[in-house]
Amino acid sequence: MGMVVAWVLLSATTVVQARDWMYAKTANFEVYTNAPKVDARILVARLERFRSTFLQILPGAPFHQPRTTVYIFDDERDFRPYKPLYQGKPMDIAGVFRGFPDEVVIAMAASGELDRVIPTIYHEFIHLLMHARGYRLPPWLNEGIAEFYETMEFSGDEVLVGKHNPLHITQLTRGRMMPLAKLFAVTHGSPDYNESSRMGMFYAQSWAFVHYCLTADRKGRKRGEGFNELLAYLQLGYSAEESVQRAFGMSAAELEADLGAYVRGGRYTVGRYNIPGAIDPKSIGFQKADDFARDVALTNLKWRIHQNGSALLELRQWVARNPESPRPHEIIATLLNYDGERLRSMQSLEEAAKLGSENPYVYAKLAEDSLRQYLSGVRPSFRLPPEASAELRAWLDRAVQLAPNYTDAWDWLALTEAFSAKPRPAMVQTLQEKRMVFGNRPRLLAGFSLLALRIDQKTFAEHLADSLLATPSVMKRPTARSGVRMQGVKNQNSRNWMQRAEYYPEVRGIAQAVKRELAPKDPDAKKPARGEYRPAEVVIEFIEE
Ligand SMILES: [Zn+2]
Repeated sequence: MGMVVAWVLLSATTVVQARDWMYAKTANFEVYTNAPKVDARILVARLERFRSTFLQILPGAPFHQPRTTVYIFDDERDFRPYKPLYQGKPMDIAGVFRGFPDEVVIAMAASGELDRVIPTIYHEFIHLLMHARGYRLPPWLNEGIAEFYETMEFSGDEVLVGKHNPLHITQLTRGRMMPLAKLFAVTHGSPDYNESSRMGMFYAQSWAFVHYCLTADRKGRKRGEGFNELLAYLQLGYSAEESVQRAFGMSAAELEADLGAYVRGGRYTVGRYNIPGAIDPKSIGFQKADDFARDVALTNLKWRIHQNGSALLELRQWVARNPESPRPHEIIATLLNYDGERLRSMQSLEEAAKLGSENPYVYAKLAEDSLRQYLSGVRPSFRLPPEASAELRAWLDRAVQLAPNYTDAWDWLALTEAFSAKPRPAMVQTLQEKRMVFGNRPRLLAGFSLLALRIDQKTFAEHLADSLLATPSVMKRPTARSGVRMQGVKNQNSRNWMQRAEYYPEVRGIAQAVKRELAPKDPDAKKPARGEYRPAEVVIEFIEE
């Protein structure tokens, strides 16, 4: 019955769907297209090539990229119903990128002016990759990096990096640069920050800053020296001024003068790398898309772009059409979460999990939300009820099985083990290996601090707690403005999800609780280490009883 209604209702959107849609799965993308295979292959090969090159130029720890679906429409007319709207009309753009924690969509028209749109896709993709790697950088650096790398060009094995965007040069030449203190203070709520018009002085100067850091000749320094350190200090939550001082050995005022001279000099070096890795488009194998998967995929795209309309209704129809598929439930969960319906969203995630969803986000998100209920005001002696432990472990084990580099899932696993009646020795061992790979992530360290306490390694437990309490990002609290932009609140700009700050109240709470537990009776007996972040390389071992 429901299916009949569905087909009548959807007749308007089946125009595009009537034509042959092809599907491909590459290393990092799922692709749906109704364009000639050759066009689609070239575009996907370009995205893969960009991704691998960017990651080689800016290397880092392994990470998990959210599920990324690429839609390649044959022409503008097919793309039109999915385009973002401006004043109620489809925008005049050839492509769009939208990121959500569970899934990212990229849509393009193969016949469009792709050279105009590709840098924008690269730009947003850079935000995604930096976020997936765990970076939570301030807007000026986030945008500077994206602006710097979005102009990347390829020719065979040769890669050109750092070509300028003429709009930035015009802006920097004609306008007045803002003082660095002002640039550093720009937040996502500032008028200077507006992702939809990437032309202002804020973007130009952020670009120039990164260009200067990576390509300028500075006295006694190698090109690019200090940039990774800058990222690391900002990541730990140090202020921009402090991070500049620590990374470059100069004050922000000195850097400001240097940057001013660099921009006035007007000479921007382009980096030429030799990085093999071009992907043969022919190696991308397309097959005819399954009707159901294609219909769900197109509903998904429409919702990700417009966030309104008939998506929920359509998705419910897709559930009725194929009750065994977890896919509509995954999308319904995100839609409900976006509408502020947190509880119903979790129910949909559970449904997707029961049906065997292969998106690791489903399991990590279920575990995170469940675990967070326990973690406020928690004491080190707290133990999860056995059923809760079992459920959390099942979800998180599945998440890391699907995505072995899913750092968030490992974080929550560490906390789950720490609060379980019996930590699993093999898992604790694995977590220590992961800590070596992924670095010192606050939640992972908080988990280890508790685990150390449990086996009476007091010095190590306290040391970790001290390190966490000395980490600015752990101590940071949301300000009134940033507090408004919480996940799952209606009408926020979804693109900002990738640029939002992250807070660690549960880590702070755990570290403080560990300290209280270990507080010496004699207050002079021990002086806590303060002011520097330096987790020790101690290995702790849980022996099977
Ligand atoms: Zn951006």
